[in-house]
Amino acid sequence: MNPRSAVDLHLHSTASDGMLSPAALVAYAASCGVRLMALTDHDTAAGLDEADAAARQLGVALVAGVELSVAWRGRTLHILGLAIDPRAALLIRGLDRLQALREARAEGIARRLTAAGAPGQEALAAVRAATRQPTRTHFARALVALGVTRDLGTAFDRWLARGRPGHVATEWPSLEEATGWVAAAGGRAVIAHPMRYPLSAGARRELCAEFAAAGGCAIEVVTGGGGIRDRDQSVSLAVRSGLAGSVGSDFHDPANPWNPPGRLAKLPGSVRSVWSDPPFPELETDAEPA
Ligand code: MN
Ligand code: MN
Ligand code: MN
Repeated sequence: MNPRSAVDLHLHSTASDGMLSPAALVAYAASCGVRLMALTDHDTAAGLDEADAAARQLGVALVAGVELSVAWRGRTLHILGLAIDPRAALLIRGLDRLQALREARAEGIARRLTAAGAPGQEALAAVRAATRQPTRTHFARALVALGVTRDLGTAFDRWLARGRPGHVATEWPSLEEATGWVAAAGGRAVIAHPMRYPLSAGARRELCAEFAAAGGCAIEVVTGGGGIRDRDQSVSLAVRSGLAGSVGSDFHDPANPWNPPGRLAKLPGSVRSVWSDPPFPELETDAEPA
C-alpha cells in the first residue's frame, strides 16, 4: 500500500472521546500518510474549526464530519455525516438535542453506578474534567482510573453495556431523522462499521435498504479492525442496496498502534467510493489507498 495517499474518513479527537486534540490529530494523521480525512466526533462539531486550521497549514484535505448516534429497531447505530456544513441550522439543532441526551445519560449512568455500589459521582467528575461531550468510553476510562475495573473492555462488560448496572437506555433520534440532518447540511450520510451491530444478515439488508430510501449514501466498507470477511459482506451489502463505500479507521488513541490513521485496505473496485464526487475535494490520481 502507498502510505502517502491514504484516505481515512472516520477519526476522533478530544472534542469527543479521542485522545488527541483536533490539531494534533490532523498532524498525526498527516504523519501517517493521510491525504484526505474527516474528523467525525460523536454528536459534536466542536473540533472542526481547529482541525480545519491545522489541515490548511499542513496541506491535508479535510472534510467536516460527525458521528451521530441513532435508534433503529431498538438498537443504537452510528451514522457518519461527511462533508457537512456544520453551520446548517437543522444539523445544529440536532446536535444540540444529542448533546442534551448525552448530558442526561451521563447523569443517569452516574446515579446507576452509585446505586450498584460503584463510585458513580467520582466517575462523573472525572468524565466532566475530561470532556464536554460525555461518552460511555469516558466512563470506562474513569472506572479504570478509579481502580474499579482493570481495562476498558471489562468496564463495558461489567458495568456499562446493555443489561449491566450502569447502562442507561437513551432515546436517540431515528435513523431517518439523523440522515435528514446530514442531507440538509449538504453532506453524505454513511453507516459506520456496519458489521459491528448484532443484526442478522436479513436485518442488515433491511437496514441498508431503509437507509438508502431515507437518503443515505454509503456504508463503511473498510473499517479499522474489521476483517476480510466483514469487508466482503459489506461489499455485497453496498452493491445490493445501491450504496457507495467509505473507508475509516475509527481512530481514537495513538496508544493503540494496531489501528493508526490511514492504514486501511483499498476500497474494492466493485464499490463506488463516497469521496469521488463533490462535496469532497478532488484528489490527485494516486489518492485512493493503493
Ligand atoms: Mn468513540
Ligand atoms: Mn461508532
Ligand atoms: Mn467512531
